[in-house]
Amino acid sequence: MKEVTVVGGGFSGLVTSYYLATSGIPVRLLEKQNRLGGLIGTEMTANGPVELAASGIRSSARLEALCADLDLPLVVTKKESRARYLYRNGPRRWPLGPMETLEVGARLTASLATGRFRPRSDETVAGWGSRVLGASAVRYLVGAALQGIYGGAPNELSASLIFGKRAKPEKGEKKGLVAPELGMIQLIDTLERKLLSLGVRIEKGVAADSDLEGTVVLSTSAPDAGGLIRKRSAAAAGKLAQIEMLPLIRVTAFYPAGENSIGGFGILFPREQGIKALGVLFNTNIFPNRGAGHSESWILGGASDRDVMELDDAALFELVARDRRKLYGRSAEPLAIYPQRWPAALPNYTVRLEDLLRRGIDTPPDTYLAGNYIKGIGLPMLLERGWDVAREIRARWRS
Ligand SMILES: Cc1cc2nc3c(=O)[nH]c(=O)nc-3n(C[C@H](O)[C@H](O)[C@H](O)COP(=O)(O)OP(=O)(O)OC[C@H]3O[C@@H](n4cnc5c(N)ncnc54)[C@H](O)[C@@H]3O)c2cc1C
Repeated sequence: MKEVTVVGGGFSGLVTSYYLATSGIPVRLLEKQNRLGGLIGTEMTANGPVELAASGIRSSARLEALCADLDLPLVVTKKESRARYLYRNGPRRWPLGPMETLEVGARLTASLATGRFRPRSDETVAGWGSRVLGASAVRYLVGAALQGIYGGAPNELSASLIFGKRAKPEKGEKKGLVAPELGMIQLIDTLERKLLSLGVRIEKGVAADSDLEGTVVLSTSAPDAGGLIRKRSAAAAGKLAQIEMLPLIRVTAFYPAGENSIGGFGILFPREQGIKALGVLFNTNIFPNRGAGHSESWILGGASDRDVMELDDAALFELVARDRRKLYGRSAEPLAIYPQRWPAALPNYTVRLEDLLRRGIDTPPDTYLAGNYIKGIGLPMLLERGWDVAREIRARWRS
């Protein structure tokens, strides 16, 4: 069998290589950085681990099977993380008042009864939410939550891409968020060792170009895939270049224990509440072994706050301190603080992306796409995509 070249050693490229190699297909994996993981990485510091982007992964049957094969135990979230908050003049478990809640209930019942619940094509999250739940639910509930996760603006995010079809959980499948005990890098390192044991040729520090030959899986961001596919299909390159990327910053800070008076998993902040961040995660409450004191990660940026990328460290840290004062009424000096800037972090899941995906990217038969703009940004969706691509290649080669 001829070798398949996988470009990109982030989670997409690693899992696609894994499913190809376990199907008996020879694989060469190219990564332009000197490290694997792409957006995923964990820095071990004196105060505890610092995640560079993703800090957990939603459990699924496919993840469980992968980690069983990797012999990688995963830890589940701590009890302390059960409470999740949305901000409305303060952190709230439920941000709507009694009248607003009644309105949401009535609208929801009516839209379910009349079959109008499902998002329509080209409907934004704000449009769908106003139609099905009402304006305050968009502002304080759905819009705030999705903006915090996707970084996009509710009046641009595609409702059907985000609430679209999901695989039904399999019987006995564990739900909830999980992570490797030593942080997300353990998943990457374990995958790398597994790939080597399966005979995958991993080449780090090697940037692929558009002269690639043979069967290729492009597991990079959409703009990078656009450049790489240019000579194989100008049309596909043009479409990939249209996919907009959003900037995000993750600032992780360590404080003495007891510095968090709120507790829980974290808080998502709607815009116009006087808080600059999209959200904050209380890392030490979420998974065990995330530091001796209290660790928080503040997520900033996204579609409506691109300028934050221009701030230097001092200005960025002052911003976090200001948000903390607003949240807690005070802010202690951090014991240590680590900024991670991602100028092109995630694809913007807008109705424009929905339209582009609906029309199809039309890759040539020997070229496959496996990035986080195809099925979803979350790691479980990248696992699904890697599995699909490996299955398609296997089927094509058998026929
Ligand atoms: C702040 C933040 C928090 C997040 N939190 C979560 C979370 O908690 N849970 C979750 O499920 N998801 C989370 N995500 C999303 C998730 O981390 C990403 O969707 C995922 O890691 C993307 O992986 P990828 O392999 O598709 O892309 P990337 O990680 O971007 O990897 C692409 C790789 O391709 C390489 N590359 C590019 N061009 C070339 C070339 N020419 N030659 C060779 N190599 C090339 C790059 O160097 C890179 O390593 C988060 C994202 C961010 C930004």
